[in-house]
Amino acid sequence: MAANYLRISVTDRCNLKCIYCHPLGGCDLIDHEKILTFEEIRRIVRLFVKCGIRKVRLTGGEPLVRKDIVELVRELAGIDGIEQLALTTNGVLLEPMAGQLKEAGLQRVNISVDSAQRQSYKHITGHDLLPEVTRGIHKAIEVGFKTVKINAVILKGINESEIPALARMSTDMPLAVRFIEYCPTSKYTKPASAFIPNSEVRKVIERELGPLSPALVRNIDGPALNFKLKDSAGTIGFISGRSSIFCRNCNRLRLTSDGKVSPCLYSAHSYDVKGLIRAGAGDRVVLDLLKKILDEKSDFTKLNSPAPDFSMQNIGG
Ligand code: SAM
Repeated sequence: MAANYLRISVTDRCNLKCIYCHPLGGCDLIDHEKILTFEEIRRIVRLFVKCGIRKVRLTGGEPLVRKDIVELVRELAGIDGIEQLALTTNGVLLEPMAGQLKEAGLQRVNISVDSAQRQSYKHITGHDLLPEVTRGIHKAIEVGFKTVKINAVILKGINESEIPALARMSTDMPLAVRFIEYCPTSKYTKPASAFIPNSEVRKVIERELGPLSPALVRNIDGPALNFKLKDSAGTIGFISGRSSIFCRNCNRLRLTSDGKVSPCLYSAHSYDVKGLIRAGAGDRVVLDLLKKILDEKSDFTKLNSPAPDFSMQNIGG
């Protein structure tokens, strides 16, 4: 599948310390001057649009801690050819910013919430901020984003008991709750043994809340398999990146906060686009590199790219 979707990590900084994402003992933050400027991001996106990218997602770290993020949204929304502009956030800062983000042109928002219970949310994220996040979710629905999705990562022995409550969020509210399989990323985060396949998560939901029926979701961009509980306002999706292989349908590239383009989440291989730009390359030269990356993308699959010790915070999930 030709790549048409670019995920951009706009910062490696985050205001939470999720136990499955943030390296234990802290992580080495990238120096500010090495992080892409808005001008560089805009230029890279504009050139990617020439190569067929139509959807952009801002992520992080936590994108809402990047100064003037609303302005970046406005600038990207103004680029001809971008059909979808989305953002993934932990939701902590969303309530006060949702209206401005929508007004600036953001269309869709994904909010990561791994527990609907305050104590366990605090245990997972290191911060007692579930009430703020909940207000952010309500605000996102209120301001009228095209979609509001919830991302939940379930870890064995940590938040398995939260599966029904998270799934239930899709019954009363027009939310797409998606269960994302934990991907062990580095020796510093939770061990591989914390992994639970989505088949188990689904069993728990059906046992506790009733059968799931396939949902018709216009999903041009996602690997999620979508379902509905009876009479629910929203949907439940499963993104099973570890227990299944969807490389053939993968349409995404990732731009790290320090300007490297990665053709595959599981690949150690990336291309230093920022290096080229800062060396003074003109559009033609940068465009040639982007085209080469797109051409080569199909060579990378999860099977031939053994997962390196990488940081989700830098690559953006
Ligand atoms: N701070 C934002 C947030 O919390 O959504 C954006 C960045 S975060 C890295 C993006 C997504 O990656 C989140 O939904 C998070 O749950 C997911 N993620 C982080 N580490 C992960 C891991 N080891 N396995 C699976 N998903 C992970």
